[in-house]
This record gives sequence, structure tokens and C-alpha cells, in this order.
Amino acid sequence: MTQLLNIQTPTLLLDKQKALRNLERMAKKAHQSNVRFRPHFKTHQSAEIGDWFRDFGVTSITVSSLRMAEYFANHGWNDITVAFLVNTLEIDRMRALSERIKLGVIVESVDRVKFLQQQLKHPIQVWQKIDTGYGRTGIQWGDFEIHLQIAKALNQSDMTQFQGLLAHAGHTYATLGTHKKVEIYDTTVQRVNQVRDRLAEAGFNDLKVSIGDTPGCSVIDNFGNVSEVRPGNFIFYDWTQHSVGSCDAENIAVAMACPIVAKYPEKKSLTVYGGAVHFSKDSFTKDGRISFGAVVPWQNDHWGLPLDRVHVASLSQEHGLIEFGNQSAFDSYSVGDVMLVLPIHSCLTADKMGAYRTLEGETISMMRL
Ligand code: PLP
Repeated sequence: MTQLLNIQTPTLLLDKQKALRNLERMAKKAHQSNVRFRPHFKTHQSAEIGDWFRDFGVTSITVSSLRMAEYFANHGWNDITVAFLVNTLEIDRMRALSERIKLGVIVESVDRVKFLQQQLKHPIQVWQKIDTGYGRTGIQWGDFEIHLQIAKALNQSDMTQFQGLLAHAGHTYATLGTHKKVEIYDTTVQRVNQVRDRLAEAGFNDLKVSIGDTPGCSVIDNFGNVSEVRPGNFIFYDWTQHSVGSCDAENIAVAMACPIVAKYPEKKSLTVYGGAVHFSKDSFTKDGRISFGAVVPWQNDHWGLPLDRVHVASLSQEHGLIEFGNQSAFDSYSVGDVMLVLPIHSCLTADKMGAYRTLEGETISMMRL
């Protein structure tokens, strides 16, 4: 593999066929649920990978910054929601983008609505951000007076076109097992629809509902009573998604290839060239053990399933420490080999690495500063 892909330094490998299968599964579910698929592109951040989505009928996307919106607008996407609260300091960018594409933004206060109305020269699509239990941002789903005030404010000008209600149930990541995730998904749908129904009673009709995180969207069979879904991570998945029960290990479509630089038989551990600057410092703790990824073997032309009792125990800036409770696995590695590690959080690892290498040896670029 080292020779085939010419790996000398930490490299993010992408199994394109796995990613396409993940994409097909999610696109099919959205289609069968009669729901718009507005995938989050912050996971892959790549125009080339974005193009794969077009083959599945995707025409509208989600991003997490105006800079990302500009990048994808420059690559032909013209219906983009920036699912991050309006940052008033970037109004010039918002103004410019709203002139050339159908731009969506999210707000949680009347002040931000007024600000947009005063500053914009072209209409923008506005969503109210609803907190259905995650607790990160948004108006509490039960605070109907605020929903109503914002709705009324949005109607004061043609510059702010009220689209509907947008929620992100990121607390699905804190649950293990399908049942709990389905429960959070259903509760989220129910709570946002409750806000929509009350606003309809107050005369705000045809509002849309936008939800969707990868754990919820992966375990649910039918998306139900929503207008659109916005999962992003599912295109690659990662070791966290596997650990919380969103996917099987074989669905994970990215792996870090890390050169082995030291071997310590007495400690049964290895040091790899691959640390926080490559993976990010994210970790996942399960059954009292902290993990920074899962080691997989190379098998002819693809990687296999995670090795038992082999742990990515810690990461410092450029080093990764791999501990073995499995002698035969330890014996199979030497200094100068390349070790493959499924990342804990593929979005952050991709963001750090800035490019992908497919198993066919092709390089796929990403948005860069
Ligand atoms: N929508 C919003 C607002 C988000 O913040 C995110 C991710 O953080 C997503 C959608 C996509 O969720 P996931 O990363 O679980 O696919």
C-alpha cells in the first residue's frame, strides 16, 4: 500500500465506493420519505465530492460559514443555507452572496432580523433557529412569544423571507443505541412542528421544518413530518458514529495512513507519525476508556475491520501512541510500515488534512483559505 499510494507522511485515505454507498442510502431515504435532502457540506468541504451529490438529485446544500458558502457558490451551487447564527461582522459577504445565490441564514433574535433588513439590498432566506433540547443555540421550542415576535419582525420587509424553523438535535451524539436516537429524532420533529402549528394559528402559513444530524438520520427509517434534512457526517462516518451506534465499522469511508516511527516491544506499543495536527484532538470515551481512533489492517486493496485490543491511546501534536493487548497484531507491524486509523471525528480530521487520497491513488482537494 505504501508503494501503491506513495505514502510518506500522514495521509487521509478515502474509500470512494463506501462514501458513495453512504450517500446513496441517505439520498434514497430522503426520497422515499418525500423530504428535501439538503446535506451539510462542512464534513467533506470539497467541490469534487460535492459533485457526487448531484448524481443523487441534490440541488440545495448546507454549510457552516459564509466562506464555505462562497466556495460552493463558486462551484455552481446556488441554494445554500449557512446553518450558523448570523455573524453581523460579515455583513459585506452576506450582502454580496445574497446578490448571486439563494442564500439562507439562521436567526434567534428580533435584533438580528432588523439588522439584516437594514443592511441587505437583496432578499435572503431566513430560518428561526429552534432549540429542541441540545442547548447549544436557538430559541427554546416552548418560548412561543419569541417565535411570534421574530415571525412578525421577519414580515416587516421583503429583504427577509421567512422560510421556517430549523433545529439541530446534536444531543443524539450523547446517546448509545438506536432506541434513544429515534426518541430524540421523534421528539425534535414533534417540538418543531408544535412551533410551526402555533405560528400557523397566528397566520404564518406554509412554514418549512429543517432538521437532521447524522446519528438521528442514520437510525430512523422514515424522516416523517419535516420538509428537509441536513445530515453531513454520514458521507464518511467515523469511529464516534460507530461507537454511538449510527453505523457499522465497514461504513466508515476515511482512514488516516500514519507512518510507524518507533516500536517498543517491552511496552507493546508503537509510535506513529500522526497526531493532533492531523486528526484533531477529539476523543471518545466508552466503558471508561478514552479513544482517539481505531486501527484497521490493510487487506490487498482496501482496509478491513478494526483490530481487537489495539488502542489509539493518546495523541500529542505530531505523535500518536498505539497500545497493543494483542501480540499477533503487534508482531505484524514494523517501523517503516504504514498504520491505518479510522478517525474519531472525520469532519475535524478532513478539515485538518485539507485533501483526500482515494484508494485508486487520486488526490481530491478541499476548500482552503
Ligand atoms: N445542521 C447543523 C446546524 C449542524 O451544526 C450540523 C453539524 O454540526 C449538522 C446539521 C450536521 O450534523 P452531523 O454532523 O451530525 O451530520
